[in-house]
Amino acid sequence: MSLRCRDVIEVIEELAPKKLAIDGDNVGLQIGDPDKEVRKVMVALDAVPAVAQEAIKRGADLLVTHHPLFYRPAKNLRYDGPLGHTANLLIKNDIALYAAHTNLDCAIGGVNDALCDVLGIKDRQILDQGYTEKLKKVVVFVPKGYVDAVREAMCKAGAGHIGNYSYCSFAAEGVGTFKPLEGTHPFIGEVGKLEKAEEYRLETVVPEGSLKNVIEAMLSVHPYEEVAYDVYPEDIPYRVYGMGRIGELDCAMELGEFACYVKSRLSVPFVRAVGDKSKRIKKVAVCGGNGTGLISSAIAKGADAMVTGDLGYHQAQDVLSSGFAVIDAGHYGTEKVIVPRLADYIKEKLHHTGLEVVQSQVDIQPFSIF
Ligand SMILES: [Zn+2]
Repeated sequence: MSLRCRDVIEVIEELAPKKLAIDGDNVGLQIGDPDKEVRKVMVALDAVPAVAQEAIKRGADLLVTHHPLFYRPAKNLRYDGPLGHTANLLIKNDIALYAAHTNLDCAIGGVNDALCDVLGIKDRQILDQGYTEKLKKVVVFVPKGYVDAVREAMCKAGAGHIGNYSYCSFAAEGVGTFKPLEGTHPFIGEVGKLEKAEEYRLETVVPEGSLKNVIEAMLSVHPYEEVAYDVYPEDIPYRVYGMGRIGELDCAMELGEFACYVKSRLSVPFVRAVGDKSKRIKKVAVCGGNGTGLISSAIAKGADAMVTGDLGYHQAQDVLSSGFAVIDAGHYGTEKVIVPRLADYIKEKLHHTGLEVVQSQVDIQPFSIF
C-alpha cells in the first residue's frame, strides 16, 4: 500500500501534537490533499520561494517546514508577493505543505531539546510550562487465555507507563455475562442463550495522547465481536510540555568563553553577547527562535544565561542592568538544529515504507555579514 500524506502527518504529530501549539499559531497541513501519495519528503525551516523551487527540483511530494507559510490570515494570493509565489509554486507542482511550529518548539525531542543536545545542556527542565498531559484509566474485559495478548498490544501502543516502569497493569478474575442476539457471531456462547464466561478485568493507565492508538491496538487483538471497555478520566498529570528549557553545562565557563562555545556548537558566523564577560555560566536557559519573552522566567529559575535569538536593543539594556546574560545566536541559528532532527525522526519512523526524506540545502539565512 502506498504511503499517504496523512500517514506522514500522523508520525509528525506523534512527536509534536497539534494541541501543544500556542494560541493563535497556525500549524498542520497548509496546502494539499491529505490522501495524496507521498514518496519523498523534504524538511526545511521556512517555506520561502527558494525552498519551494528546491522541493520541485528534488522531486518532493511533501514539504515539511517549521515556520507556517500561512501564519496570519492571508488577504490575497498574488503571485507577485512571496507568500502567493511560494503557494503557487507548490500547488502547480502538486507539493503538499505541512507546518509544525510552536507545537514542535514545545514537543519533547523538538526544537528546544535539539538545541540543548547541540549545546550539551544536561538535566534539563521545561522553562515555561504550558500543557500538562493527563492519564486516563482504561478497563477492558478479556476472556481467559487472552489477557497477555491484550496487555501486550495495549502496552506496546503506549499504555502502562508509571514513572520508570512500563507494562503496569492489574487483572482481576470474575464472571462476565452476555446473551448474543440474532445476527451476532459470538466468540463464546450461542445466539439466544445467556452465557456466563470466565473473564478478567484488565486495567491500565494511558496518556491521553496515546488513547486512540491503545484502543485500536486493544480491539485488534481482542477476540470478542463486541468488546466491553471503559475509559475513566484521571486527574494525574503524566507529562508536562512547554516552551524553552533550562539545564546545566558539564563545566562552568565565563560568559566570553561561553559565547565562543555557542558560536562553535551552532556553527554560526557570529553571536551577540550581553552581560559581564567574566560572569560564570553553568545553568543555562534556551529558547529557539525569539525566546526573549522568557528572559524573566530564566532569571526567576536561576539561570546564569540564556541562549535565544531576536534580542532587541532595549531588551539588551534591561538584561545588562539586571546582571543577567543573553547570547543571541539568531533566530535562524537557534532553530536550524530542528531540520536534521525532524528529517531523521521521520526517516526512522517510516523507514520500512521506503519513504525518502531529505533536508533542504538552500541557504535561507536572510542576513549577510560584512
Ligand atoms: Zn522561529
